[in-house]
Amino acid sequence: MSRLVIVSNRVALPGKAAQRSGGLVTGLVDALHQAGGLWFGWSGKLGETAPEPNVFETEGVTYATVDLTRADHDGYYSGFSNAALWPLFHYRLDLINFTRRDLAAYRRVNALLADALAPLLMPSDLVWVHDYHLIPMAEELRRAGATQRIGFFLHTPFPSLGVLETLPRYGDLLKSLCAYDLVGFQTEEDLTAFHDAIVRRAGGKVSSDGQIQAFDRVLRAGAFPIGIDTEAIAEMASRAVTSRTARRLQESLRGRQLIIGVDRLDYSKGLEHRFKAFAGFLEHYPAYRNRVRFLQIATATRSDVPEYRALRQRLGALAGDVAGRYAELDWAPIQYLNRSFSQRSLAGFFQLSHAALVTPLRDGMNLVAKEYVAAQNPDDPGVLILSPFAGAAYELDAAVFANPYDPDAVAEALRNALAMPLEERRERWQAMMVVLRRNSITTWRENFLETLGR
Ligand code: ADP
Repeated sequence: MSRLVIVSNRVALPGKAAQRSGGLVTGLVDALHQAGGLWFGWSGKLGETAPEPNVFETEGVTYATVDLTRADHDGYYSGFSNAALWPLFHYRLDLINFTRRDLAAYRRVNALLADALAPLLMPSDLVWVHDYHLIPMAEELRRAGATQRIGFFLHTPFPSLGVLETLPRYGDLLKSLCAYDLVGFQTEEDLTAFHDAIVRRAGGKVSSDGQIQAFDRVLRAGAFPIGIDTEAIAEMASRAVTSRTARRLQESLRGRQLIIGVDRLDYSKGLEHRFKAFAGFLEHYPAYRNRVRFLQIATATRSDVPEYRALRQRLGALAGDVAGRYAELDWAPIQYLNRSFSQRSLAGFFQLSHAALVTPLRDGMNLVAKEYVAAQNPDDPGVLILSPFAGAAYELDAAVFANPYDPDAVAEALRNALAMPLEERRERWQAMMVVLRRNSITTWRENFLETLGR
């Protein structure tokens, strides 16, 4: 059996509960525990980059991390990754802040990480690189002499050609991707966009069995929609709903219906559109005033990137406006929190709520959509309102769909969700649970690794 080597920007270190709580992380840690393995990436620390990584082993898993200098990190992470690639991949050309300096830092850090990792590799390793921060990793590992099978999974969307080609030197990214043996995307749509770019801009060929020939290499690409640990979340929710935190929330509602949103504070999540749509809902359907509460949890991230700070300001103002306009002496329509909660508490909140607004403008998958469904009470499930522009929309086709760019459509979907008869709620929920049980985080990981190892 091959050893598994996982490469990601951040390494979820043992003992750091906050870093290890996500379903994805748990899924990957499980795989490392099963087969024995190595997790490699940035340490999370800024300082001089040592010539050799910091390596330690615990519970059969080896962790190897590298510190980055502030300048490298700023250019690679806050710069090229999060101020150029992230907005590009989420179709926000207006927010791209590209500089050649950041691009150089991105290439430099990928090369530096590859040089640190290469000596740790064994000949039969399977290497699995994650996400947009590390696209050049395989190319750099090959330069450093690696001959192992190397796979890449992109957690974000892959944009269509017209969007992709606005990025200076986008051809380099295509070439970098072709240095892998397997490139995985969230959806068929992402995969098609990649094929299109390979054929039309890189002179490559895509055969009917999915094999790609380009840049003097032969590789495979596929759609591997990421899943969640469905049963674990269901169980967590049924316990959490009786916890003190969940009871506090329920008591504060005084019988009102709860609408929930849980996101990182990110412009791709469509939060401004969502807040305006909620205001529209109160305007168009005044009977719901004082009968609902919208709880939006939005954890601040990437505050080094100016656009995220600006968004936070705007959202705070918007939430204040909605409250100011509609609140009554005994009722606040919107409850807006910039903090994070444990998976467990979130699962409890999900089960207490009558509807979830998952309305990103663009999203690779959106795990919150899946977690919300998994956390419902089978006897009285809430309704998922989902944007068609989330990767999850391809699988969760029994959700209530609303175009986030159409505030009236979102308001209408919300009204329909809150008034939906139990029978229909159950049917929709059951249909979505079939999908979630079939494609869990474990099947996702196994499918990818099995294809990479083949
Ligand atoms: P993204 O990867 O863009 O943040 P996803 O919805 O795919 O979006 O994944 C987000 C993950 O982070 C989910 O597992 C979700 O439960 C978790 N999460 C999001 N917001 C919070 C929060 N405020 N507190 C705790 N966990 C959160």
